[in-house]
Order: sequence, then structure tokens, then C-alpha cells
Amino acid sequence: MPNRDGHRFRDDGATVRPETDRLLLDVMLGKLAVYLRLCGFDTAYAGDRGIEDDERIAETAKREDRRLCTRDVGLAGQVPESVLLTEHEIGEQLVELRESGFVLDVADTPEYCGRCNGAFTAVSSDADSPEYAPDPGENDCWRCETCGQVFWNGSHYERMRETVESA
Ligand SMILES: [Zn+2]
Repeated sequence: MPNRDGHRFRDDGATVRPETDRLLLDVMLGKLAVYLRLCGFDTAYAGDRGIEDDERIAETAKREDRRLCTRDVGLAGQVPESVLLTEHEIGEQLVELRESGFVLDVADTPEYCGRCNGAFTAVSSDADSPEYAPDPGENDCWRCETCGQVFWNGSHYERMRETVESA
């Protein structure tokens, strides 16, 4: 229905964006968690936390004020404002999230570690990097303050960006 200013309301809920929404992903959505972290969302993953039963997941979402994403219809029904996903494939799941109002943009400077959701800090260009990572003088690199993993803006990162952008 048009409101009194003549604009139309969307009735599918508010837009979900990193600035306003923190997320909790159910155990079957570990791969999606990596993508959402890359898109700048503070994304807790039930698999990382070792929580599987519905009651604890619902309680964690409420206590930490996180929006739950799950493929479990029953669980989605118990948790207010949760997002029910039906797809299995990552590209299709990203489409579902977009359709649910998620803003999905891969950040040029990622904030959250894809592996553990820890905070990233930039590796300075003259710092030592581990053997698996490129020279930070040649590639932008970030180190996770929690797990120590170094990520960089390389081909893997670009493939993930393409997956997000084409969804
Ligand atoms: Zn980490």
C-alpha cells in the first residue's frame, strides 16, 4: 500500500546490512559463513561454537542479538526475525539472502576472518609473512588477531568476490 507520502512500503522487512545486523549461522551453513564474513558481516557459526541443539542456537541468537540463518524450518519458526534458507549451493544461497534484503558486497578491506570471525588487521608492507602467504609488499595482506591466519587479496579472494557479484 502507498503510504501518505505516496511511496510504497516493502513488506519484506528491513534491509540487512553489516552496520546494523550481526549474524548466527546454523551448522549446515559453514561455507556461507565464510562469504558473509567477507561481505563484512560479524558472523558467528554454530559449528565453530560447537552448538547444535535448537534450544542453544535460539538462546545464542537472542543473547548475542544475532539474526539467525538456518535451513531448519522448525528452528526458523522458533526464532524471531530468522532467515530460512532452502538452497544447498552457495550461489543460490546468496541469491536467497539478497531476496531476503541482505546487502552483499565484498569489502576491499575485509574486517572479519573467514575462518573464525576474528578481527583482521592489515599486515604492513615490510612485515614478515608466513610461507603460504605472498609478500605483503606486493599484495594487501591481513592477519587475524584471533587465529593468526593471514589472508590476502589474491585469486581465491577474487573467485569469492565473483561468486558474490554474480549471485
Ligand atoms: Zn581467524
